[in-house]
Order: sequence, then structure tokens, then C-alpha cells
Amino acid sequence: MTCPILPGSTIGIFGSGQLGRMIAISARQMGYNIHTFSPDTSSPTGQLADQEFVSAYNDIDAIRHFATNTDIITFEFENIPVNCLKAASEITPVHPHEGVLYTTQHRLREKLFLEKNGFPVAPFRHIKNWNQLNNAIDELGMPAVLKTAGFGYDGKGQRRIESRKDLASAWKSMGGQEAVLEKFINFKLELSVVAATSITGEFVNYGTIQNKHTNHILDISSAPADIPGAVEISAINLTRDVFTKLDFIGVACVEYFLDSEDNLVINEIAPRVHNSGHFSLDACNTSQFEQHVRAICGLPLGSTVQPRPAAMLNLLGNLWEKQEPDWINILTIPEIKLHLYGKKEPRAGRKMGHLTALGDTQNQAIHRILEAKEKLESI
Ligand code: AMP
Repeated sequence: MTCPILPGSTIGIFGSGQLGRMIAISARQMGYNIHTFSPDTSSPTGQLADQEFVSAYNDIDAIRHFATNTDIITFEFENIPVNCLKAASEITPVHPHEGVLYTTQHRLREKLFLEKNGFPVAPFRHIKNWNQLNNAIDELGMPAVLKTAGFGYDGKGQRRIESRKDLASAWKSMGGQEAVLEKFINFKLELSVVAATSITGEFVNYGTIQNKHTNHILDISSAPADIPGAVEISAINLTRDVFTKLDFIGVACVEYFLDSEDNLVINEIAPRVHNSGHFSLDACNTSQFEQHVRAICGLPLGSTVQPRPAAMLNLLGNLWEKQEPDWINILTIPEIKLHLYGKKEPRAGRKMGHLTALGDTQNQAIHRILEAKEKLESI
């Protein structure tokens, strides 16, 4: 099928989590059909899809069957094999393309790509054995962070090294896998830019978003970020350049550290809609999810105007430890919106949903989200 891919067509999504679910909601609202492919049944995306294809990501026959039944394919999860996208793209257009997945699903390849193209990254070393780790610590100094080279997210597969006595256990936790040692960046804040490029080359962005992580997992985002205008412009320009160098189509997020001298360092690229962009569902004219559909289908991109400041709180499974959270109590807070992802089993650290609060000012939006957090955690 040629571009544009119009409403009434079928969008296939590899992955079936909450990101796919929110893409599916936007796509279905616009009249598209949704097919999802993953090993899971009754998944957050599958609950809202027209069809849920359940197979392993290495089942090439199943992937071909899935692709034959879709007009365009995307992914919501970067830890899928590149061969999966390759097999699908022989039958149906896939955006973002498999080269993007190859680069960004692997920390070392992503860092080498960024370094080669002159982007600012934390000094790093490729670690294949114990001796290399010891030498790299001498070169980079401490604190440092040791991360598995491939397949990590939400801080999974990473260990902070404060002193030499942390080295052996950090190396052991890599389980013999290749790793990347990164210098620890003493950041004053973490930022992200969520943006989109369409098949037609149009580029839009959602400004800078300020992120606070707890135990390496995103806790609270607020937008717009409280930073000087010049830093915002630099972050957006860097993001646009990353998109160009990757030849990226769709929505992606570039995450940054901002150091004490207002230098931006790229932490990582998420080649998909991103948790820090969830506020856009309630706060922007076009959400990141609708934008992704527009971008990959070759429709005009929507306005990213954000009429009111917003803050977002992730709802992790820990909040369910004693009982179901008291939503009635939360929903009394003005201008607050609840999103739950249809996950049956709350587990510690599992993203079950999120809240977005709007406000007249950034402080008011943040204050409302903190009030919700306090209520949730006091039960
Ligand atoms: P990642 O999964 O690599 O995005 O890391 C998750 C979080 O760990 C980041 O958002 C930071 O809060 C922290 N982190 C990771 N790498 C570094 C680093 N080199 N310096 C400082 N903090 C880091």
C-alpha cells in the first residue's frame, strides 16, 4: 500500500504493553484497525486491538502471517529481535526502520553511533572482561555506572560503582555479558525531548520535559521543564539532529542529563513513544500516540501546543501491595486524570498506570501530582 495510509487501514504493532495500548486507543479513535503481535495473551494492547497475534518474536512464519494482514507496522518495545522487523518489512512497510532498532536496542551500538556523529555522551568504555573493567575504572574514575551492552531498560542490568569494593559484585551481576562502563554524570536535572518526524519529513516536538527517577525508574515528569530558553533550544536542536542521523520516522524520545554548567549530555534514545511524553494525552492538542500514528501513516502532523502546564506520576505495582489504591480519594484533586493499563498482576516496579495533573502554573500542576503521590503512599 502506498502513502498516505488512510483511516480504515490496519496498523500492526510489535509489542503489547501500555505504549501499544495508548497508540491503539488513538489509532482506533481515528478509524484505524489495530493488530498486535507478542508472546502474551490478553495484553494491555491486545485488550484494545482488533486482533491479538500471540507468538514468539522468532517465529518467522507467524511474523509473515501477521505482516500479510497489516498495511503498516510499527513497534512499541525495542527489545525485539531485528530479524523480526526484517521479516515483516519484506511484506509490509515498517516504521521506524530496522536499522533504528539495531542501533538503539543496544547500549554500546547506540553510544558508538552518538559518539561517531559528534553528539555529547558520557565518557564510556566497552567492557568484555574483568581486566578491561579494572583498566576502564582507572581511566574514567569513580563513581561510574556499569550497564549491560544490550537489552536494558528502566535501570535493568545496571550497577553503580562508588569504590573498588563494588567492582566484583557489579561485574558478577552482568552475568558474563558484554557491558558498557559509563562515567557517572553529576547532573542537576534530567530532561527529555519527545518529537516526531513524518514520512513527508515534517518535524514537531513537545518541548523539554523534566524527569525525576526513583530507583532508575521514571517517577514524575513535568512539562515544560524549568530550564533556561537557550538550553531548551539546544536540546530540541540535538533531538532533531539525532532524528536526521537515524533517518527516523515516527515518535521517539531523547533523554538528557543537564550538568551543573548547563551542558547537555545524551543519556539514551528511546525509538518509540515514551513514558515522559504521557502528559501529552491530557495536556497537548495532539498526544504523542496520535502523533505517532500520523507520522507513520504519512498524515499531516498535529499541533503540539500545550495550553496548560502538566505533571505526570507513574503508578507502579508497589502501590497495590496492601490493597487497590483509593481512586475516589485521588480523583477529588482538581484537573487530575487517571490512566490504568489493564494489567492484572501488580508487581513491584511494574508500570500499572499513570496520573496527569494540569495547573495554572507549573508549580500548581506539580503540587497536585505530589498531593496524589502522598495520598497513594499514605495508605
Ligand atoms: P538508563 O536505563 O540508562 O536510562 O538509566 C536509568 C537512570 O539511571 C537514568 O535516568 C539516571 O537517573 C541514572 N543513570 C544512568 N546512567 C547514568 C550516568 N552515567 N550518570 C548518572 N546517572 C545515570
